[in-house]
Amino acid sequence: MSDDPQPTAVELKRLLEACRSAFQMCAHPSVKVAAAVSDSEGAIHNGVQVRSTNCSHCATCAEPVALGAALAVGATTFTACVAMVRDNTGIHVWSPCGTCRELLRDFGVRTVVVAQTPDGHPITATPDELLPWP
Ligand SMILES: [Zn+2]
Repeated sequence: MSDDPQPTAVELKRLLEACRSAFQMCAHPSVKVAAAVSDSEGAIHNGVQVRSTNCSHCATCAEPVALGAALAVGATTFTACVAMVRDNTGIHVWSPCGTCRELLRDFGVRTVVVAQTPDGHPITATPDELLPWP
């Protein structure tokens, strides 16, 4: 593998499909965001947000849950991350929050999908490009 792994278009598509699959598997009504992280070996790791329905500040974003799932099975090098939100209009790409941008950068994630074109093409950025923005 390269020292500077870049995701392929196929990998980005697999990440988007992984998020959609997580929503199909996860029926819990509190879950509105899913994430998927790819590692340098080509594996995809899913996560969903975890939040309390009784405590408004007890919550974890989907991105760190996906990273934790990857770390738990031995992944050490990450290439890309996608998060998607499920709302009453469908399932859409969700740009990571500031904390997750820092976390993704710290773990060496090179590419973050931040949006999709109307025809479904992923629009990407690096965590460093995103950090100055809210
Ligand atoms: Zn976050």
